[in-house]
Amino acid sequence: MPTILSYVAVQGGKPTRASLEVLTRCRQIAQAHGWRVAAAVAAPEAEAFADEASRYGAETVYAASNSVFEQHLNAPLVEALAAIVGQAQPTVVAFPSSEGVKDVLGALGARLGAPVLPDVSQFEAVENGVEALRPVMAAKFMARVRATGQPVLVSVRSGSYQAEEAPAEVEVEKVAFDYQPGAAGATLRDVAAAAAGAIDLSEARVVVAAGRGVKDEAAKALVEELAAVTGAAIGASRAVVESGMFPATAQIGQTGKVVSPEVYFAVGISGAVQHVAGMSNSRIIVALNRDPDAPIFQVATYGIVGDLYQTLPALIAELRKAKA
Ligand code: FAD
Repeated sequence: MPTILSYVAVQGGKPTRASLEVLTRCRQIAQAHGWRVAAAVAAPEAEAFADEASRYGAETVYAASNSVFEQHLNAPLVEALAAIVGQAQPTVVAFPSSEGVKDVLGALGARLGAPVLPDVSQFEAVENGVEALRPVMAAKFMARVRATGQPVLVSVRSGSYQAEEAPAEVEVEKVAFDYQPGAAGATLRDVAAAAAGAIDLSEARVVVAAGRGVKDEAAKALVEELAAVTGAAIGASRAVVESGMFPATAQIGQTGKVVSPEVYFAVGISGAVQHVAGMSNSRIIVALNRDPDAPIFQVATYGIVGDLYQTLPALIAELRKAKA
């Protein structure tokens, strides 16, 4: 029986939301084609994630356990995934599209001689391969792409599918892989977190993003207050990153991060295509802008035309009331 293999990335001691979305999609494809769905986990104790993977339908978990996976390092992950693919012999391997996966996908494709479809927003198994839709040109167009071979590697943008539980009975297969520390010629010395306790933008359920309308510390404080009351991660347009008001790690868009939260607040952001490319997959978009003709309103679910200095305090007060 053909196997579809889903790579489950672990972050902060749990599978990422984007991984569970991809695993759900793999289960749907497996169900439609009568295939087996399996998950690949590389972690210090990878077996520990078998239950969580099985809640989303994984029937087999290929577990590569090694303390090297406490931090993300390309070389051992490529080794582990190559070993897992050797053992599972999958027809398709699907990944959540993330910075870490971007690094690994090309190397694994070269190692396996496998075709790669990166950063797609939809994919389907077709005869001898995979067909997918990929946003191109700052997500203005969708390209229909197809790869044939076995396996085909595909990475999927977060927010493209919704994670749904469908418990399955799971068996764990331990995978031995060969990794000599130092063999890669790279050592990870330090991971610098953007800010202690800050919510990870690409995994956040709510994002408050600031644009050039956020001009001063008073406006920034309002954005931070809105984020605190909604439990949101803070993002930014390139304009305010370049002004130095927000860190580069907060940038959302074509040359920044791609986010797909349940709710995206765009505060003082005009809605340039390069920004929209990074947030259009958000489920609900609330735009606040004083210009009624701002392009952001074309992608917004809810639009508020107003000055942020007046509107945000009122919005924050209402949200506080609703929470209480
Ligand atoms: P502006 O376009 O200046 O908009 C500010 C908005 O705030 C206006 O609509 C205004 O009406 C509103 N406003 C002002 N004051 C208030 C107020 N008091 N209350 C309410 N509203 C107010 N941009 C990105 O964001 N991410 C990217 O990844 C990115 N990549 C790029 C890549 C390339 C190759 C290029 C060429 C550009 C890229 N850009 C990117 C830049 C992009 O084109 C825009 O310049 C940028 O997104 C504009 O940011 P903004 O919306 O914050 O600013």
